[in-house]
Amino acid sequence: MSKNILVAVAWPYANAEIHVGNITGAYLPADIFARYHRLYGNHVLMVSGSDAHGTPITVRADAEGKSASEIYKNFHNGFLNLFMQLGITYDLFTTTRSENHFEISQTIFKRLLDNGYLYRETEKQWYSPNENRFLPDRYVEGTCYLCGYENARGDQCDGCGSILDGKKLVHPRSRTGNLSLELRDTEHFFLDLAKLAPQISEYLAKDKTHWRSNVIKPSRYTVNEIGLHGRAITRDLDWGIPVPLHEWDGKCLYVWFEAVIGYL
Ligand SMILES: [Zn+2]
Repeated sequence: MSKNILVAVAWPYANAEIHVGNITGAYLPADIFARYHRLYGNHVLMVSGSDAHGTPITVRADAEGKSASEIYKNFHNGFLNLFMQLGITYDLFTTTRSENHFEISQTIFKRLLDNGYLYRETEKQWYSPNENRFLPDRYVEGTCYLCGYENARGDQCDGCGSILDGKKLVHPRSRTGNLSLELRDTEHFFLDLAKLAPQISEYLAKDKTHWRSNVIKPSRYTVNEIGLHGRAITRDLDWGIPVPLHEWDGKCLYVWFEAVIGYL
């Protein structure tokens, strides 16, 4: 009897060209797997698409003086061309800008909220009074509080290689325009991962012999020993899927939360 086989291929980020390592690492193996199952007589659905949101795309758009929309469309069309030329046989290759993706992501957000899996928390974030907006970490530069390097980014220092807490940067400034910044309160929704820990722990405990040990071991260790913590699923950004609530204008769903929903 034929089986249904879903091939869920990684979503390329639409801010850079695909290189040959991406082809051999992700797209070609998936295509071989899909072709094998089609020949075998199984029903195959091979899906993926361009990941079109997030700061890597807006940063690139600002650098090139283009809109984020132009940037993602340009790379998305390039991906389609490349896959067709190589003969990669997707059944569906879409983008996270589709109407369907917006609707499903916002529906899942609302359902998590209604069922008590989201909570709100206020945190400090750099705000640019001149630009009238909060700035994500990648938009903030300043002096590293660990090594004194003057061009550290909000999330990372290229001088000493450390991951930084953007709020502690010395002499913070906006990447675009060298403007001075101030810390302001901003409220966000967090996914209450700790609440899901019992179910995840149970899921990881059984029938995982087909998982690689370097995946299953750290997964179990994180859930059972370190413990899960809430993680923000919204951010102050105007390029993305809007938070589907009144009075949350200017905030979008975090790309780590919504991109994976693209498979649905
Ligand atoms: Zn440093």
